[in-house]
Amino acid sequence: MSYAGPEFEPPQPRRPRRGPLTVALAALVPGALLGWLVYETAGGSGDGGGADRANVRSSPPAASSTPADDGKKPGASASSRSSAPAASGPLKGKTVVIDPGHNPGNFQHTSEINRKVDIGTNQKECDTTGTSTNDGYPEAKFTLDVAHRMRTLLQEQGATVKLTQDGDRPYGPCVDERARIGNEAKADAVVSIHADGSGAGNRGFHVIMPGAVHAGAADTRAIVAPSRDLGERVAGRFGAVTGSAPSDYVGGGTGLVTRKDLGGLNLSTVPKVFIECGNMRDSEDAALLTSGAWRQKAAQGISEGIVSFLRG
Ligand SMILES: [Zn+2]
Repeated sequence: MSYAGPEFEPPQPRRPRRGPLTVALAALVPGALLGWLVYETAGGSGDGGGADRANVRSSPPAASSTPADDGKKPGASASSRSSAPAASGPLKGKTVVIDPGHNPGNFQHTSEINRKVDIGTNQKECDTTGTSTNDGYPEAKFTLDVAHRMRTLLQEQGATVKLTQDGDRPYGPCVDERARIGNEAKADAVVSIHADGSGAGNRGFHVIMPGAVHAGAADTRAIVAPSRDLGERVAGRFGAVTGSAPSDYVGGGTGLVTRKDLGGLNLSTVPKVFIECGNMRDSEDAALLTSGAWRQKAAQGISEGIVSFLRG
């Protein structure tokens, strides 16, 4: 599979419209302002999904478009690639793995994704289809879209960013492989992106952190503390940027949940959390999750949490 790293060639051509000054500013922007100052400096002409801060676009980007291709990052243009300004950003030398939950193709591969894999504590399905809104917007499209937006934001900070899947494989990967990708990348932080499928009326986000597990191939003891730090920062920034409240149905209002039954966490050897960005089965949350402008805020909030964690 191909992982999107710093050499990733954006799938669409970009219009050059950000000069060196803007790029330099981007590298200096602290986490709290990640992305937004860049956008303002760039003049806000956002023709791409990723730049669509609220109210700028007349319509949200299609989920299958390339929201990362927002014209904000240097990308593939010769000048920016050669000068590589982002590589000198505050996250230079840091590797972030983004794990877009599920896969839009999982629906067509039920036997493959139902195969059991070893998660240390027990056997569990390779992967699941994920949920969707009542109107049929799939979680798997949501997760990939947010991941693309995050990739852009984090690359602008100088991070090396890898995705566990980029819509470039028919299904999966399995949860054990998702964990392995982060481990083998020696990621400094991994965030798995999800949206929940709880009952209507349940609202809000929550971050899932690994509990201490030591069984079979699973040993999370070394990552429990840093993952909690990461989780708290992601939850804090996500809430601040999106304005969403922590889950009102799990986590006791903290937006934080610890679990020992997720293979993607049990098998991780690097700091890792999941985030359930909202409840797709609630109409009010669904209205947010299906908004490109809101997804940009979600990506920004998560990214700011990662930046905060990595910068200490
Ligand atoms: Zn999910």
